[in-house]
Amino acid sequence: MRLSRYFLPVLKETPGDAQVVSHQLMLRAGMIRQTAAGIYAWLPLGKRVLAKIENIVREEQDRAGAIEVLMPTIQSADLWRQSGRYDAYGPKMLRITDRHDREMLFSPTAEELFTQIFQNGAKSYRDLPRNIYQIQWKFRDEVRPRFGVLRGREFLMKDAYSFDVDYAGACHSYNRMFIAYLRTFARMGIHAIPMRADTGPIGGDLSHEFIVLAPTGESDVFYHENWEKGRDTAHVDADDAGALEAFIDGLNADYAATDEKRDMAAEAACAPSLKQSKGIEVGQVFYFGEKYTKAMGVTVQGPDGAAITPHMGSYGIGVSRLVGAIIEACHDKDGIVWPEAVAPFKVALINLRVDDAACKAAAETLYAELTAKGVEVLYDDRDERGGAKFATADLIGLPWQLVIGPKGVADGVAELKRRGGDRIEVPLAEAAARLV
Ligand code: ATP
Ligand code: MG
Repeated sequence: MRLSRYFLPVLKETPGDAQVVSHQLMLRAGMIRQTAAGIYAWLPLGKRVLAKIENIVREEQDRAGAIEVLMPTIQSADLWRQSGRYDAYGPKMLRITDRHDREMLFSPTAEELFTQIFQNGAKSYRDLPRNIYQIQWKFRDEVRPRFGVLRGREFLMKDAYSFDVDYAGACHSYNRMFIAYLRTFARMGIHAIPMRADTGPIGGDLSHEFIVLAPTGESDVFYHENWEKGRDTAHVDADDAGALEAFIDGLNADYAATDEKRDMAAEAACAPSLKQSKGIEVGQVFYFGEKYTKAMGVTVQGPDGAAITPHMGSYGIGVSRLVGAIIEACHDKDGIVWPEAVAPFKVALINLRVDDAACKAAAETLYAELTAKGVEVLYDDRDERGGAKFATADLIGLPWQLVIGPKGVADGVAELKRRGGDRIEVPLAEAAARLV
């Protein structure tokens, strides 16, 4: 992509209404614009990051055996009356009336709809277990939308719903998602700690929140220092229910809890290693058994012909919140420092002298080579001063900067710089290959 033809409205000044660094940087880097309280337009750079995150989430859900669907955002109030949540959900739900005075709503989550859809398609115990998910916009009329995409009103969520014949099956489904979450966040270059949690309006018995440590987070968290190390999940076989459970039990032996679930006795036991911080909730998993299937009269036929009420779980990831959470964890004084897996482009190709024929020829050649090799490159071919180009590249935080200047070109080299790290000289002829 040529920057001269791109739509990247960067801001020099930090917007006064943005309180946390991720919100400031997303506005300054031209990723988003607010269109109403807690509602954002995603500009090209932001959209690319959102898509990267979405794809990692999708790949790990698919790998865990979940099946993707897409449900409508607008749902009928009657569906929600079947579970009793239409009245119980309260003012966080955006209620809509259509031209025929029918009551509708913008989905804040989708347990009811997935339960209904599942009921239409599953008749027998052989149709279970299943885990169905979507990546879809949600609306919650938050009292205080703030911190940009970290707490919006409209936000992108991955929500999955599992259906099992019994408690043991449902636990395995829960554990599968649990490990998929650890893998998902690790692939994005961040470390999310699973913590026992309350279930809130979703209801149920068992829940974990996945929390990214950040000083600007809204949750108070307490954890054993062991959690600061990443955990290797590569060797865990998610199909082996026993091994998976043992792994997760072992993991959870180290203390970690949010303020609501704080257990002073357990904390005292690990006192010297206990840390306190703030954190951002990037995902949550729930087991709630027969809560919705019972309320909505959903059964399948068991092996002996008797009716079975499926056990359910639901599993959310804040896809748009993750964009902000990753920036909270990955930035420096000059701007964003994207982990490579979620970066909007891999390389900023910077031509310092667009008026110099040799520089221009070298930059154009590299741009063509990188593009041909499938490397995502943002080519700064604008007629701007070098300082401004470096400031933009640092602000938008692409992992690599490949810099072309007159002196280097005369020597046959370009400068390759890791964002926030070292710089080296590379021969022009080798530069593209280095970045593959
Ligand atoms: P919170 O406690 O932060 O209000 P929640 O527990 O109500 O969130 P869940 O129902 O668990 O949210 O939704 C699943 C995920 O969706 C959350 O883990 C979070 O990452 C994301 N999410 C929830 N509310 C918002 C919001 N207002 N803006 C952005 N993301 C959100
Ligand atoms: Mg939650």
